[in-house]
Amino acid sequence: MANFLMPKNAPVADVTDGTHLSGDVTQLGAVDVARGAVSKDVCENVYGVVLAANGSADEKMTKSRRDQLRASRKSTAKKPSIEGLKWSYKGNGRTQIAEALTIDTGAKSVSCGQCGHRHCGTEDNLLDHLGLIETPPSAAGPVRGEAYERGRFKLRQFICTNCGGLAEVQVNLAGAPASFAMPDVR
Ligand SMILES: [Zn+2]
Repeated sequence: MANFLMPKNAPVADVTDGTHLSGDVTQLGAVDVARGAVSKDVCENVYGVVLAANGSADEKMTKSRRDQLRASRKSTAKKPSIEGLKWSYKGNGRTQIAEALTIDTGAKSVSCGQCGHRHCGTEDNLLDHLGLIETPPSAAGPVRGEAYERGRFKLRQFICTNCGGLAEVQVNLAGAPASFAMPDVR
C-alpha cells in the first residue's frame, strides 16, 4: 500500500472510520492489530473495527460497532466555534476527499461522502455545518495520539451531523487555531 510516507510502525488504517486514502479500513484495522501497530481496544473504539477470534475483521460486528460510534459522536458533538476561521472551497469541478467530503462547485454543494447529506454551499463556512468533538489525543491511538505530548494537544474530530461519520480529524495544540487544506477544486 501507501503512496505516501509513513513511519515504519504507523497504523495503516490511520484514525478515521472508513475514510482512508488507500483502501478498506476494515481489513487494514485487522492488519494493524496483527502488526502490533494499534491495540485491539483502539481498533475497536477508534476505527470501529471488531475482530473475530482468528484476528480477521468481523464485518457484521464492525458495521454495528460503527453505527454505535457514529450515534455516540452525534450525541456528543458540539457546534464548532472557531473564531475568524472560514473553511470553504473555490474552483470549478467536483472532487472527493476520500469518503469524507464531496465538493461540487457546479452544484455549489459540499456534502458528506458517506451518507450524501448536503452540509452547505461551497462558499459557505463548512465549520458552521459540522459537529465537533474534542478529546485528548490518546483517543486516536499510538501514532496520531499516544505519541503526541499529553496534556497540551487536542484531537478534534469534525463530523457529519446527519450520520456521525468523520469529515476531518486533526491533532492541534489545545487552544490553537485549526487550519484546513482548501485547494481550488478543478
Ligand atoms: Zn453523513
